[in-house]
Amino acid sequence: PGVAQLVASRVLDVPDFPKPGIVFKDLMPLFSDGDVFRQVIDEIIKHHGADSFDVVAGVEARGFILAAAVAYATGKGVVPIRKAGKLPRAVFSCSYALEYGEATLEVHQDAFIAGQRVLVLDDVLATGGTAGAALDLVEQAGGTISGFTVPLELSFLNGRDRLTPRTVHAMLTV
Ligand code: IMP
Repeated sequence: PGVAQLVASRVLDVPDFPKPGIVFKDLMPLFSDGDVFRQVIDEIIKHHGADSFDVVAGVEARGFILAAAVAYATGKGVVPIRKAGKLPRAVFSCSYALEYGEATLEVHQDAFIAGQRVLVLDDVLATGGTAGAALDLVEQAGGTISGFTVPLELSFLNGRDRLTPRTVHAMLTV
């Protein structure tokens, strides 16, 4: 099967998580099956080409899982983009609106060498707030975005539009 079908077959709908009325897409079955996980990682590398990036950045927390695997498989390093207050040294911060309230992501100020090409990974693109902040932070820290991939895009939330002109690679769009 194609990788889209593979993702579709391993996404679980969890009603009323984290709040009543929200259907949470749980991608853990995509990560916990060894053959499937390897196909997902291989597809990310194949799509972008290992020569197109110098380092991989993962968005806390499920982006870390993808980023570490892609980094290891291609012999690159991995950089965490974290929720506020987790990184120990000087950071750049970017806040963005949630449905209720706000969230903040951070990256170490010295996370990248100037001009380093950065592949950014997360598990799900929803409204695009998280991805927008993550991509802005990479650039603020001196990196160049070489690509952004998620296994799953929820298109009804229009996150892709919010990220224009940056391109989004989604393995499955629903
Ligand atoms: P956004 O900022 O609205 O695009 O939400 C994307 C971020 O929230 C990503 O870091 C996802 O890990 C997480 N997220 C939002 N909705 C879901 C979901 O249904 N399943 C898994 N993660 C989600």
